Amino acid sequence: MKPVTEIFPLLNGAPRQVVITMHQKPDPDAMGSSLGLYHYLISLGHAVTVVSPTNWPTFLNWMRGCEKVIDFDYRRAEAEAVLQKAEWLFCLDFNTLSRTKNMAASIGQLNCVKILIDHHQQPEETAFTYGVSDTAKSSTSEMVYDLIVGSGGREKINIAIAECLYAGLIGDTGSFRFPATSADVHFMAAHLKQTGFNHTQVHENIYDNFLENRLRFIGMVLQSRMEIMYEYNTALIAIAKNDLLKFDIKTGDTEGLVNYPLTIQGIKLAAIVIDRDEERKWSFRSKGAFDTNTFARKYFSGGGHYNASGGKSSDSLDKTIQKFKQAIKENASLLQ
Ligand code: 5GP
Ligand code: MN
Repeated sequence: MKPVTEIFPLLNGAPRQVVITMHQKPDPDAMGSSLGLYHYLISLGHAVTVVSPTNWPTFLNWMRGCEKVIDFDYRRAEAEAVLQKAEWLFCLDFNTLSRTKNMAASIGQLNCVKILIDHHQQPEETAFTYGVSDTAKSSTSEMVYDLIVGSGGREKINIAIAECLYAGLIGDTGSFRFPATSADVHFMAAHLKQTGFNHTQVHENIYDNFLENRLRFIGMVLQSRMEIMYEYNTALIAIAKNDLLKFDIKTGDTEGLVNYPLTIQGIKLAAIVIDRDEERKWSFRSKGAFDTNTFARKYFSGGGHYNASGGKSSDSLDKTIQKFKQAIKENASLLQ
């Protein structure tokens, strides 16, 4: 993977056919960084299409350009046609092709120039022509901002770009809370704010945009589906398929649920497992010195960041919970 700076002169050159993609079930950073880059490359005259590997939470639909994003799972022929025409493929907010789920095989076979922009650990560098991978960065949205400014586009940052990148920034920094929130992040936010976008509205679009059923569901989960293991400073939330059906839970409704147990004094690791159709999906969050990336990789074929990772299991819900409890025992000394 060559440094991403080597394509900067080309960004300002002849118009190209560009596709931007992101990890499956995109979150505010994946969608925000992709659409921020989309608006920027359009302004430079390129022909750009954003393709998401799967559907996304409805609380992202307010983003300008979101209505044009192609869902690979639902519009596969159209997505494949766009991919075939692409000269450049930007891969945002993921470190391995498998994070694009059903799209991974198609991407692997493409011969176009592939450009990685990502902040996850241990990227699959050989899969990309150019790229930048920086685990110290708060978000991929910050990295897209760096790309725009670094390639001379600072003055081109308009309200559409600012809203999308700001959404990604607050998503991945927990609204400027997590350790990766550097001084540069605040400078970036200040600059975005100067475009005149409404940051309160962006926050409300993402965080105050649910239906009653989701809040009732969270109440039930915290009351009845959360187990605290003080011995290991760990909390586990396990959600069965029936719970999802009963409360009519959709993509995005469970986002952020894993953070609640971390509000309890002394809890260092919070885990949630959700019984999805195709797999049991894990999310891990930690405070301080517990490395969830190593943990997720070792036990649940996953990965991510030091304090936030995900993983999966093909075992039954009960079996994967037992495996987690065993794993916690093995890691007891790291959780003290
Ligand atoms: P979340 O728990 O919000 O789904 O994901 C937390 C972080 O871990 C995100 O940065 C996400 O990209 C990453 N992640 C989630 N699931 C997986 C997975 O199955 N494999 C890998 N490598 N990373 C994951
Ligand atoms: Mn991210």
